[in-house]
This record gives sequence, C-alpha cells and structure tokens, in this order.
Amino acid sequence: MPNVIAYGCDDATTQFHPLEIDIREPGEGEIYFDVAYAGICHSDIHAARGEWGPVSYPLVPGHEFVGTVAKVGPGVTTFKVGDRVGVGCMVGSCGTCEMCESDYEQWCTSTPGTLWTYRADAEGNPTTGGYSRGFTVREDFALHVPESLDFSACAPLLCAGITTYSPLKHYQVGPGSRVAILGMGGLGHVGVQIAKAMGADVSVISHGRSKEADARRFGADHFYATSEEGVLESLRGSFDLILCTVSAEGLDYAGYMAALRPYGVFVDVGLPSEPVSLPLRAFVNGGKSFAGSQIGGIAETQEMLDFCAEHGVIPQVEMITGDEITQAYDNIVDSRVRYRYVIDTSTFPATA
Ligand code: NAP
Ligand code: ZN
Repeated sequence: MPNVIAYGCDDATTQFHPLEIDIREPGEGEIYFDVAYAGICHSDIHAARGEWGPVSYPLVPGHEFVGTVAKVGPGVTTFKVGDRVGVGCMVGSCGTCEMCESDYEQWCTSTPGTLWTYRADAEGNPTTGGYSRGFTVREDFALHVPESLDFSACAPLLCAGITTYSPLKHYQVGPGSRVAILGMGGLGHVGVQIAKAMGADVSVISHGRSKEADARRFGADHFYATSEEGVLESLRGSFDLILCTVSAEGLDYAGYMAALRPYGVFVDVGLPSEPVSLPLRAFVNGGKSFAGSQIGGIAETQEMLDFCAEHGVIPQVEMITGDEITQAYDNIVDSRVRYRYVIDTSTFPATA
C-alpha cells in the first residue's frame, strides 16, 4: 500500500503537522477506507498531552471518523467498495471472553484486552488513528453509517454518540424520566438530543449562560447555569439521572448527588485527572448510585447510529483543515468549540 498522509504531533505540546504513515493492506476479514471526516474528542487531547500516561510519538489521534470503503480483503462479507463506514474508539478484542460474548468489547478481559484505535497493537507497536487519509480495520469493528446521516457531521457519533447513548439506554431513560446533562460540550450536546429522542424531560446544567439558546434548540426543556448563586441548591431532588460529561476539576459532586431523586443515579463519563471524594451519606440518603460508563459495544454502536438516523440526532460541527488542529485543541480546552471540531481530510497536502 502506498503511504498515506496524516496529521500527528511529536510531543505533549501537541503541535500538529502532516506526516506520512504506513497503512497495512487489508488482510483476511479487513477493509481499507478513505477517511473523509474525523472528529476531535477531548479524550484525544488528554491522550496526546500525556495526561493519561506515556504515549508513543509521533502520535496520530482520532477515534471518531467516517469514510468510504476503497478495498476489501479476502473473506469480507459485510462491506463492499463504495460503502459508507465509521470507526470509533476500538478496533479489536478477543471475541471469546465473557465480556466480548456479551457485546461489551470495550471491557474485553483477555490479554491484551481491548485494542484501542490509536494506542498500541497486540504486539505493543504504536498504531495510528483517524486524523488520516486512510485506515485499515477488521470488518467486525467497522460500523455502517446510514445514508440519511449527514456525512460531514456524523463522525462524532462514533465516540460522543455512543458514550452518551449507552448509559441513557442502560438506565432505561424514556418518557417520564427526568434527565440532566451536565456539561454541554462535544458529548453533552449529543447527549441532550439523544435523551430527548428517548422521550425524557431534559435539563442542561452548564457552567455559564452562553449555551442556553443552543441547548433549547437541541431539545432541552430546562437550562441551569452553575455560575449563578444557589442554582444547585434549588435543584435538590430533581433528577432520575445525571449524565456528567465534564472533565474540568472541582465539581460539587455531593451537591449533584443531592440533586438526584431517591434511587437516582449520577453517571460519570467525563475524566478529570484528580480523584474526587464524596461523603457516603450522599448515597445512603435516598438509595442513590454513582456510576461510570465507557463508550459502548460494537452492536450497540450500530444501534445508536440507526437510532440517530431515525430520530434526526446529529452533531453540530465546525469543519476545520489539518493545519487548524493545533489551535482547535486549545479552543476545546477553553470551552470555545460549538460543539465539535471535525477535520476535513481533503484539506491535507498531497505530500508531507
Ligand atoms: P468538551 O467538548 O471539552 O466538553 C466538556 C464540557 O465540560 C464543556 O463543554 C463545558 O460545558 C463543561 N465544563 C464544565 N466546567 C468547565 C470548565 N471549568 N472549563 C471548561 N469546560 C467546563 O469534551 P468532550 O469531548 O465532550 O469530553 C468530555 C469528557 O468525557 C472528557 O474528559 C473526555 O475524555 C471524556 N470522554 C469519556 C468517554 C467515556 O467513554 N467515558 C468517551 C469520550 C470522552 P458547559 O459549558 O456546558 O459547562
Ligand atoms: Zn472520544
């Protein structure tokens, strides 16, 4: 295979530049696709800046991307050349452990476990992600992107979509549920739309007022800004489920537990680096739970894409060129993106 052009960074300062990477020929059961659009998730930033431990540089991140199948390897049955395809956070798992057999490939218990899209392969070699013109993947870790989803806007569903869909479904959100989405960034703005499409009464809890009109456009019934005095106190006993997508430090977790109704659950998907401490009485009084959630399995990801196509759930994206990735990272950390950056790979140069 000829090398393809990608954007990568050389250290934790995350200065992105074009580089050539080797992409393998699709082998047995694999497809190669031309990547068209790749979303930038806040997790890419945590990873590329070394906030989750050491990484191998140069690093080509990207774990929510879509494109068109250009080659199929031997034995491929579910994709053909020309199909729309998407890839999310994982590209392999053992397929035979109890978790894989239950469609939770993200929690594969075998060694080496889940193969993440751009960490290291089973032999420990660094792999590359979606900020690239091309990608080879096992067909059973590739998703079919419904024709009715706007191709240029749907890439973020492969991470932001499944990460919010999975816990909302797991906790059986539906008509009558009172759901709060805490933090309306890349994940949160998709979560609002999904919770609304599931039939819930949806609140957005944001750290300021600036996103209120957008929140209502995404389907929120209520909007609260924690910058305003006494807001959290006024929400005591309000929600069945709070989905927290915030990665900033210093949230008042005890205050949010108090904002749950009895038997309510606070589900965290955001990943601040510091541990948090919580008084146990915040759980005992009202029989409440504090839970986590991590993306979702492959079958559930396909279900989510089909659900979004059916219900008109679509990320609001800002399209950028390869050369704008470096600035985009700072903008995301400063909460200036509305609401997800998507890289248009047709802007990449022909050579590095
Ligand atoms: P994002 O676009 O940066 O959104 C985070 C949101 O946090 C912001 O939009 C902002 O919303 C809110 N926020 C609250 N306090 C803030 C403050 N002081 N400064 C800046 N923002 C503040 O990030 P994302 O891509 O949605 O990802 C969110 C988190 O989820 C990250 O930690 C990411 O690593 C993690 N993640 C987890 C999974 C999983 O499987 N568990 C998957 C993907 C991502 P408001 O303005 O509304 O307050
Ligand atoms: Zn992500």
